[in-house]
Amino acid sequence: MLRTGVAVGAALVVTCAFGVTPARSSPGPPTLAGPGFQVAARLGVTSVSPSRPYTVTFASDGLKQRYTPYLTAAVAQMRAAGVRIGIGGTESVDPGRCPPWGHIQYTQTYRPLNRGGYSRGMPCPGPAGGVAAGGIVTMDSEYFDGTWHIAPYQLRNTFVHEMLHTFGLDHPNRDLDGDGKAGAYECVTGPGGVRPVMCSPNGGYKSASSAGRLTPYDMAALRAMLANARRAG
Ligand SMILES: [Zn+2]
Repeated sequence: MLRTGVAVGAALVVTCAFGVTPARSSPGPPTLAGPGFQVAARLGVTSVSPSRPYTVTFASDGLKQRYTPYLTAAVAQMRAAGVRIGIGGTESVDPGRCPPWGHIQYTQTYRPLNRGGYSRGMPCPGPAGGVAAGGIVTMDSEYFDGTWHIAPYQLRNTFVHEMLHTFGLDHPNRDLDGDGKAGAYECVTGPGGVRPVMCSPNGGYKSASSAGRLTPYDMAALRAMLANARRAG
C-alpha cells in the first residue's frame, strides 16, 4: 500500500551540478522541523522564497490537462501561505537536470523509483542560500493505465505530496510507538485522524472535498520555511 516515493537516491541528486551552498550568517538557526513537519535539510534546502515566483510546468499539454485539477487547491493554499506559486505551461523535461530556477516540472514515467505504485518528487539539491529552487515530480504511469489501483483521494494527495518534496519537505514520520524506527504511517495525527500530507505513505485528508489539500501541519511547514528565508535575508 505504498504509493508515494521516498526522496532518496533519485536521479537529480546524482546528476544536477549544484554544489551545496551553506546559508549565510543569519540571526538564528532555521526551523527545520516541527509538529508534523520535517525539512529535508540533508538535500541542502532549508527555506522557501517569499519573493521569487515559482511555476508549475508540465512535460506535455496532455499532462497539463490531466494534472492541473489535482494541483489547483494546493497551489491556492500555498499562495495564501505566502508562496508566489502559479500554474504555468509546458516545457521539455529532462529528468536528469534541474529545471530553470523556480520551475516545478511534472512528468510521468513507468515506475520512476522502480517500485510499483511509487512516484518521485525531488528538489534541485543544494540550491543557493538553501532557498528552494524548483525540482521535478515524476508520477508513476501505472495510476493512469489501470495497472495500479490507487484510490482517488490517495492520487490527489500523492500529487501534492510530491510537489511539496520539490520545496524541500521530507516525511515527518517519527518513532511514536517506541520500537526504534519511524515506521509507515507513523506521524502525528489531527482531528479525525488526519495525518500530514507529507506523512509516508498516504498522508493527507481522505474525504473527497479535502483530499489534495495541505493539512495544517504542511501549512506550518511552508510558513516556517518562508520565515527561514526572511530571517536569512
Ligand atoms: Zn514522499
